[in-house]
Amino acid sequence: MRRRRDAKIVATLGPASNSKEVIGKLFDAGIDVFRLNFSHGTHDDHAVVHQFIRDIEKERGRPIGILADLQGPKLRVGKFANGEEDLVVGQSFRLDMDNEPGTAERVQLPHPEIFAAVEDGAKLLVNDGKIRLRVVSHGDDFAITTVEVAGTISNNKGVNVPDLYLPISPLTEKDRIDLDYALGLGVDWVAMSFVQRPEDMVELRELVGPDTAIMAKMEKPSAINHLSDIITLSDGIMVARGDLGVEMPQEKVPVVQKKLLRRARAAGKPVIVATQMLESMIHSPVPTRAESSDVATAAYDGADAVMLSAETAAGEFPVEAATAMDRILIEVERDPYYRQVITAASPTPGDTAADAITSSLSHIAGVLPLAAVFTYTESGFSAFRAARERPEAPLIGCTPHRRTARRLALVWGVHAVLSDEMSNVDEMVSNAINITMQEGFGELGMIIAITAGMPFGRTGTTNMLRLTRLKDLNGNANTHDDIPL
Ligand code: PEP
Repeated sequence: MRRRRDAKIVATLGPASNSKEVIGKLFDAGIDVFRLNFSHGTHDDHAVVHQFIRDIEKERGRPIGILADLQGPKLRVGKFANGEEDLVVGQSFRLDMDNEPGTAERVQLPHPEIFAAVEDGAKLLVNDGKIRLRVVSHGDDFAITTVEVAGTISNNKGVNVPDLYLPISPLTEKDRIDLDYALGLGVDWVAMSFVQRPEDMVELRELVGPDTAIMAKMEKPSAINHLSDIITLSDGIMVARGDLGVEMPQEKVPVVQKKLLRRARAAGKPVIVATQMLESMIHSPVPTRAESSDVATAAYDGADAVMLSAETAAGEFPVEAATAMDRILIEVERDPYYRQVITAASPTPGDTAADAITSSLSHIAGVLPLAAVFTYTESGFSAFRAARERPEAPLIGCTPHRRTARRLALVWGVHAVLSDEMSNVDEMVSNAINITMQEGFGELGMIIAITAGMPFGRTGTTNMLRLTRLKDLNGNANTHDDIPL
């Protein structure tokens, strides 16, 4: 089974999709990676869907990625005596540490770090930015604000503080417990919410260890200011447009999105564009034209993956949303202009042997038509580097490690396959020929390019490029008398 597109699709699971039947249909409709959102659901809920995904992976015989998304320090107001209050423009509203139920004049904000960092003039946004409060004075445990944009404030609504740098770890106690649990289940990617500084990713890496990929969710202006270091310290990033659009003016989000896509691709790190991509499909079986265009734009801009959130987690049409996304991406990738823009945006190769080899593939493909680029990869690194080149020929990432194959499910263009560890070049060539034909990427006589690292079984050793024709090996794995190329 192979997808008919290079960009990948991530789907968030939730009440609308947590049965084995729906997860199977989502996979068949085009989902490559499933997101377990630890902001919702119990550990038992996550364990059940995790098992469903692994069962479907076995049944379909294709590696599937699982992304655990940690909630992070979501800041919230306390509760109100009446459940909610209407705030009006110009009124004074106090936030403090007192856990007495809130009124129209005040409410608890149980986060001392905000009062420690706040400055007069800073803005506080409540309920996804719908209410805007401006700080006029503050003390160690309170802030007096003026309501600038009015609305109804209710129990436990979220608070964003875009102007402030908060000296807190983005990993709360809950995140640490969730992380332990997710790693115990066996997930392939861990995403961290509300990253502010490069050190946050260092902290996450220490907890996660080397075997699971880590992703920085870009949703804070301070993270955008430290973009290079955060990308360097992460295995991938997510353009988390939901909170990003609260933390900064909406009109800046498209510009930041394009910048994040460019920078992640240049670094050879996969990037997901997330949130409200097909939002109307929560209640409608078809997307709006603007939503189709948004998904297409992310693809033209070089996204590795696009993500469905509430559409698949809580919507009425989860499978239709996956199908719509699949169709939009296929259509974009058929457009000759897509290839032109993707090639024109090719980054300069880095100074690694993997870059020297993978970047030369596009020249080779211009001289000889390649049925596929076949990359042997241990950690996934050389497949990441090959994907960075966005080769026109299909990209097969072959690895002996299941966790690497699953991780690659998120990466642009990579069709991951598992095979045994190779012990010599003949075996490696035969294996590549067999897999390429078995997986439906080429027929007898076509040419493939194989990249690998020797000695085998060591990461970071890519140093070999081999061209060969697909041929009938007559069951003899060590025969490959090449027809001249
Ligand atoms: C976002 O804010 O866009 C996002 C993906 O994060 P969450 O769904 O956790 O709010």
